[in-house]
Amino acid sequence: MRTNQTTTQPPTLLQSLAPRGNEATVKTSAELDLMWEAGQIVGKTHLVLRKELRPGMTTRDLDAVAEREIRGMGAMPAFKGYHGFPATLCVSINHEIVHGIPGERVIEEGDIVSLDLGAIVGGLYGDAAISVAAGSVPDELERLLQTGEGSLYAGIAQARAGNRIGDVSSAVEEHVLSRGVYGIVRGYVGHGIGRQLHEAPSVPNFGRPGRGPAIREGMALAIEPMVNLGGDDTEVLDDGWTVVTADGSPSVHFEHTVLITDGEPIITTRVADA
Ligand code: MG
Repeated sequence: MRTNQTTTQPPTLLQSLAPRGNEATVKTSAELDLMWEAGQIVGKTHLVLRKELRPGMTTRDLDAVAEREIRGMGAMPAFKGYHGFPATLCVSINHEIVHGIPGERVIEEGDIVSLDLGAIVGGLYGDAAISVAAGSVPDELERLLQTGEGSLYAGIAQARAGNRIGDVSSAVEEHVLSRGVYGIVRGYVGHGIGRQLHEAPSVPNFGRPGRGPAIREGMALAIEPMVNLGGDDTEVLDDGWTVVTADGSPSVHFEHTVLITDGEPIITTRVADA
């Protein structure tokens, strides 16, 4: 599902492992309870990361915080060891879109830092991402952050039984394009989630209303728009993981895990800011 690409498909924490063509799984109420627990641990970990992140930290410091929090709450990191990914947290800075590997890189004032993480409780997954500014950033980057987060919630609002995946996808796309000239990443998409990190269906961040798989009660979706200040082309760095914008423009990534009900979707990975 990559477009305009010359690089080979890397292992990915996003869509490529979704069992294409399979039906989405419908969860039992016991499974949904565990997904809620896993999601809350992800959300609480993001809250701690948001509070601790500051210029001068290394990305490895952030990874250590994430692993400490997830294990401290009795869950397992979902990404560590996943197809060889070496860390708990994906840290993707500025023109890095997703799958950045934590290391010695120091966070600098004005960086846009994307933090993607997952947790497993009782075999069920939660998966979410936030992008945050380290210190103050120019207005155009504040608007990029607002646009990315707003597009996630526009998509979530369409994650309702009786709708189709295309309703979610088109809501994300329309929100982004209503805010300005941005690139929407097309080669990496959201996914079903449950007993696997990546399940059917794929959830693109562009599309047409009324198209795609039906959304039914008991399904769970990870919706995750990636929005660039420039174009939508991507490349993968030599580390085999880090996905970057081909034109070097900054990018943001926002993701929640949502449960489909007979009414409003439940966002498992959102927590109240205590
Ligand atoms: Mg995901």
